[in-house]
Amino acid sequence: MRWSQTLIPTLKETPAEAEIISHQLLLRAGLIRKLTGGLYTFLPLGLRALRKVEQIVREEMNRAGALEVLMPALQPPEIWQQSGRYEVLQDVLFKVRDRAKKEWVLGPTHEEVITTLISSEISSYRQLPKNFYQIQTKFRDEIRPRFGLMRAKEFVMKDAYSFDATDELAQESYHKMYEAYARIFHRCGLKSIPVEADTGVMGGKFSHEFMVPAETGENEVVFCDACGYAANVEKAMSASCRATSPIAGSLPSQAGSAVEKFATPGVVTIEALSKPPYSVPPERQIKTLIYIADSKPVLILLRGDDQLNEAKLAGALGTPTFRPGESEEIFTALRAHPGSLGAVGVSEYRVYADERLRGAVGMTTGANEDGFHLRNVVVDRDLRVAGWADLRLVQEGEPCIKCGRPLRLQRAIEVGHVFKLGVKYSVALNALFLDESGKQQPAIMGCYGIGITRTLQAIIEQSHDKDGIIWPLRVAPYTVCITPLTVAPESGVMKSAETIYQRLLARGVDAILDDRNERPGVKFKDSELVGFPIRIGIGEKSLAKGEVEIKPRAGALVGIPVAKAVEHVAGLVEEGLKP
Ligand code: ATP
Ligand code: MG
Repeated sequence: MRWSQTLIPTLKETPAEAEIISHQLLLRAGLIRKLTGGLYTFLPLGLRALRKVEQIVREEMNRAGALEVLMPALQPPEIWQQSGRYEVLQDVLFKVRDRAKKEWVLGPTHEEVITTLISSEISSYRQLPKNFYQIQTKFRDEIRPRFGLMRAKEFVMKDAYSFDATDELAQESYHKMYEAYARIFHRCGLKSIPVEADTGVMGGKFSHEFMVPAETGENEVVFCDACGYAANVEKAMSASCRATSPIAGSLPSQAGSAVEKFATPGVVTIEALSKPPYSVPPERQIKTLIYIADSKPVLILLRGDDQLNEAKLAGALGTPTFRPGESEEIFTALRAHPGSLGAVGVSEYRVYADERLRGAVGMTTGANEDGFHLRNVVVDRDLRVAGWADLRLVQEGEPCIKCGRPLRLQRAIEVGHVFKLGVKYSVALNALFLDESGKQQPAIMGCYGIGITRTLQAIIEQSHDKDGIIWPLRVAPYTVCITPLTVAPESGVMKSAETIYQRLLARGVDAILDDRNERPGVKFKDSELVGFPIRIGIGEKSLAKGEVEIKPRAGALVGIPVAKAVEHVAGLVEEGLKP
């Protein structure tokens, strides 16, 4: 490609719309342009990089035995009703109407479609296992589209769905995808870490997210550098989560004392109660939260120094439909306002308590009367707990659940997700098969997603410097940029540039020739901003010495004899493409 013939609208200034570096660089390097919030056009260079990521994904999926298909983005709402997700996902579903005013759904994911296909095409264990994948555009009405391609309304995903006859085989399918993902991200030049992920309200399943550590990531991940334990904070546990040891300062003698009400005028926070004249340490307080789960109030109890983890709460409640109670609902339920709530004497609502409160004595909690608290609360004696569960967020520095060493919290970008689903969709949508004994069984499913467009941006987030993008060789829009310092057609410089360009193309190297009549400084800056892995600079001075200047994007410039330039560059490319 000749630079003058394509469109690479580089920008000197950082566009105000872009908050994070990878988004800024996507725009500045002329890879994408915004149509409107959450919707982007891929320009020629951006699309080339995207296609390379897709190709890596395709090769590894094929290698793992998955079959490529292409499913409709436009879907009938009936299958979503059948799976129960028409309601559950109503916030993200884009809906459209046809001329007859019938409603349709723009697919945010494809479990419903693939399972419908399987229900009619697969009938015997002999046809299993099967794993189908596609690379396709998804639509999600995200609450907060932001950071460019990271969280968009429309984005490209690779999604795969496996179907197996037995649980053991389903685990094998899962493992194959896990391995394929590790290879995919490695080949994309990304440092990614598989972490244990929350499986929501479906018990007995397992799941890993592939995370790219980055300060701008929307996820928080818990790592143990000593033993390698890694989990999304939504799912993470520390040794503190199972602590049933007595809370510091609680005395056995307090176990016998009666609950005592005391006045706490104006005190509505854990912190206020921890200060004189009350001086109740946060770990000796019971925090009471009211949630509305499936339209009914429930009480959630935690230690005062702990924070609620809503993903864990979803697991404990067994429903994804819950939300914090509104001030009025809370007052109606308990006759007091937040800050004065408690569960002592409450029997009309279900009470869920965090494991750390088990056996606690000498605790203080709200009295369900504004301006009053209760002390000497003995959890086992005074509270009617319906469900005990791990409900708290892990904090930085807590001991690892596996080895006891301090945990580290780190922000990260989720680029991929592997999930053992079980039979939820195959039961709901009749993906049944006859097993060896002729008995009808639901197929055991797994689903596996990679955000292709998000991965592309994550690569930039992880690999750049002050001058621009540093593309890993395999995903660069062009591998080599040839930069002649003069472009007069008859000049020796331009003739050498043309020869090298043609010979690189003949060797199958992806090259772009910067034939623009621009100052060398502009060309060099642009090539660094776009981030081509190798630049060949050709000027009169070096040519007079019989040399061209070769500069890897993140390495040092070297002079190479003109006649050896193509060989040298082809060698660098080959080296860079080695597994
Ligand atoms: P997130 O928690 O970031 O919203 P998710 O759990 O909804 O992701 P999945 O449904 O598992 O995501 O989708 C698979 C992959 O698709 C994700 O790992 C992510 O890389 C990508 N992805 C999801 N939502 C978006 C989006 N709005 N824009 C771009 N990529 C996305
Ligand atoms: Mg999402």
